[in-house]
Amino acid sequence: MGKVTRLICMKCGKSYDSCDHLVCPDCGLDGIFEVEYDYDQMRKSLDENPLRSRTEPSLFRYTDMLPVSQAPPGLLKSGWTPLYTFPRLNQAVGHECIYLKDDTVNPSGSLKDRASAVAISMAIEGGNPAIACASTGNAASSLAVLAASAGLNSYIFVPEKIPHAKLYQIGACAAGVFRVKGTYEDAFDVATEAIKRWGWYNRNCAINPYLVEGKKTCALEIFEQLDYNVPDWLVVSVGDGCIISGQWKAFRELKLLGQTSKLPRMLAVQASGCKPIVDACNASCDVSPVEACTIADSIRCGTPRNWRKAVKAVGDSGGAGVSVSDDEIIAAMLLLGRKAGIFAEPAGAAGFAGARKAIEEGIIGRDESVAVLVTGSGLKDPTSLEGAVEIADIPASVESVADYL
Ligand SMILES: *Cc1c(COP(=O)(O)O)cnc(C)c1O
Ligand SMILES: [Zn+2]
Repeated sequence: MGKVTRLICMKCGKSYDSCDHLVCPDCGLDGIFEVEYDYDQMRKSLDENPLRSRTEPSLFRYTDMLPVSQAPPGLLKSGWTPLYTFPRLNQAVGHECIYLKDDTVNPSGSLKDRASAVAISMAIEGGNPAIACASTGNAASSLAVLAASAGLNSYIFVPEKIPHAKLYQIGACAAGVFRVKGTYEDAFDVATEAIKRWGWYNRNCAINPYLVEGKKTCALEIFEQLDYNVPDWLVVSVGDGCIISGQWKAFRELKLLGQTSKLPRMLAVQASGCKPIVDACNASCDVSPVEACTIADSIRCGTPRNWRKAVKAVGDSGGAGVSVSDDEIIAAMLLLGRKAGIFAEPAGAAGFAGARKAIEEGIIGRDESVAVLVTGSGLKDPTSLEGAVEIADIPASVESVADYL
């Protein structure tokens, strides 16, 4: 924590040297903090230990750029996921240069592991024996999985409506799972009170500013994997807005630290049935909560909590927001499957669907390089493809295979 110098409220702009609160005391839940470091010290550390010389195959290769000092013993390795480009996929989309950052291969199957790894390290460094969160799925399963590996108890609050795979992934690993009657908002409120009462470390997604720091590592890796270059566009599927904020912060910090002079443009992708952040980006206004309706459960956030940072990332980068229908998301899942062998959950494929759309609409130029985050595994909710894939139900005879072919 020594490296963190200030926390700045994204709403009122006030800064705090140290703060016992996770959000701005003046602004409440609306006052999400941004973490600022001693960048001179960070520059020195990068001079002494350049990115090129690092070998740790996890996000802890960047501890000097994070609020933690080391990986806790036992913690499953998150991050340092592959960056691919598939000629046949590029051809299908009509673009030469699409990179896919495959975060489906993280320990619990989603990019959320990057945030959980940092949260767990902070809880352990702070001497807290337990950690808790409310989540509709990936944040919770990620926390349960990684906490178990590091010997930390986790208490997880989920809403009634949660995909089965995620629920049982949590159930297998958590110290306690509470299925709260009601919506995600209800689960969030119960979790917040319980965290206060029992003094657990708070991994509640959008409000804990250190989680964005973990998510930041995805962009740092892309920079390294592109041989210390920045793509023209970075495409991110957006729910609460933490992932996209983290990616933008990473590139800004790389620039601040003299590692690059270029910044990418950020493309925020949401589902047509839930696009409050995309609407706010395109109208340059505040977010208005919406009734959310989409198959992409991991980005089904009608009341996004970290929208201010997300909208700013898109605006400051000269980026854009696009929305994609559920049908377009399913088409993207199938294209990723057939041309890349990557099985993504709907929210995980939404970024790719948005990239396709932005290329077709000329938002992304044909000669511009594009990196797309694939944020979560399809095994999290395979039933989303029910009815979308053709399955030949046949009698047990090879002749019926012949008929089918
Ligand atoms: C959480 C999540 C997102 C969206 O991230 P936000 O930080 O909420 O914007 C996208 N895809 C997957 C698979 C996720 O789990
Ligand atoms: Zn404030």
